[in-house]
Amino acid sequence: MMTKEDGKRKVMEAIEKRAGELQKIGETILQHPELGFKEVKTAALVEDKFRSLGLAYQKGLAVTGVKAHLPGKSRKIHLAIMGELDSILIPSHPFADPQTGAAHACGHNASIAGMLGAGMGLLDSGVMKELDGDISLIAVPAEELVELEYRNRLRQEGRIAFLAGKQEFIRLGLLDGVDMVLMFHLQQAEPVQKISVGGTMNGCLAKFIRYQGKESHAGGAPHLGINALNAALLGMMGIHAQRETFRDEDCVRVHPIITRGGDLVNVVPADVRLETFVRGRSVEAMQDANKKVNRALKAGALAIGAEVEITDLPGYLPCLKNDRLDQLFAANAAALLGTEAIGQAGHLTASSDLGDISHLMPTLQPFIKAGRGNLHTEEFVVNDPQLAYVESAKGLAMTVVDLLWQGAGEGLVIKENYQAKYSKEEYLQLWQRLCPEG
Ligand SMILES: [Zn+2]
Ligand SMILES: [Zn+2]
Repeated sequence: MMTKEDGKRKVMEAIEKRAGELQKIGETILQHPELGFKEVKTAALVEDKFRSLGLAYQKGLAVTGVKAHLPGKSRKIHLAIMGELDSILIPSHPFADPQTGAAHACGHNASIAGMLGAGMGLLDSGVMKELDGDISLIAVPAEELVELEYRNRLRQEGRIAFLAGKQEFIRLGLLDGVDMVLMFHLQQAEPVQKISVGGTMNGCLAKFIRYQGKESHAGGAPHLGINALNAALLGMMGIHAQRETFRDEDCVRVHPIITRGGDLVNVVPADVRLETFVRGRSVEAMQDANKKVNRALKAGALAIGAEVEITDLPGYLPCLKNDRLDQLFAANAAALLGTEAIGQAGHLTASSDLGDISHLMPTLQPFIKAGRGNLHTEEFVVNDPQLAYVESAKGLAMTVVDLLWQGAGEGLVIKENYQAKYSKEEYLQLWQRLCPEG
């Protein structure tokens, strides 16, 4: 009879046999970066792999998402392994798309390779047939909350309702019946630590702001114009003046950008647009900071006599952790890489749409430290392909074996001990309450 340790060993060996293929998947995606809800080539690659594994799948989910189903020997519990399809925009990145500037400077190419690798290991080894639960392999679109104007247009066209892929998966019922979600995210490499677990993350609101002034000849008749750029700059200065009132423990981050600052230098700017997030460690902290930000933005308009239109759009909920899932993953990672390579993550002030899922079911997101340079910079590239694409997949697949072995006892205990913060309905209403006009 196969023991759990036999099962894990077989899965590890099966993934190792695919090591070259997984690295190639990661590098192919690296070379074809696509922004959220536009991940056509990346989704096609995932579909191709699902077909080659003989898996039935659904595609075009939340615009570009793909989902395959792996049945276990019984269906006591249903796990999802997720990978993220999208890139960000860093035109100076060495692997940026020359046309769009998109680049995988957040390492999501590895998360797709790892998701596929975990699935391949469970299937190739025959271990899937020994497990008492089902698995969905999901390539989910649009983790990065970017291009707010474009996505808001998709919303107005009725193609999406939220701005990010995992939220759309919740809304569309694509996670109905799923009991927990496992994935990982890359981080910058460190000298000793290769993986950390137990990280939590900020939540955020997304804001789109439009100042309207009045055009006039910038040299000849500025007194006849209303300078929307000056109004916006004063609004931003007002935000900066609030920073001393943000409490350290709330981890507030507000970081506006100007996406339209004027059209021609000799015309007084009349249409100026900003985007910003208001991030915080709790929903209350986000709401409190947002009130101050709105006050500051309006003050800029008041000073100059411009109009300001502020649209609050759903961002992400703070990301919660599940201690037991973290422990299981850490133990498997230690078996692969040694105890000294595994550490504890703290609170991150970045955000992820996994946060929304973490309020509805247990989630796992360890950090795999396999990149050179900081995330979201031109320096970030995978510098440890074995860790990024292969060991990460092994860690996920071994944790699946723990959760679903022998009656899925471990998975069921985690499921029973988890208290959801919201039902799906309450969750959807929460965002309506937070962003009534959004
Ligand atoms: Zn990112
Ligand atoms: Zn990311």
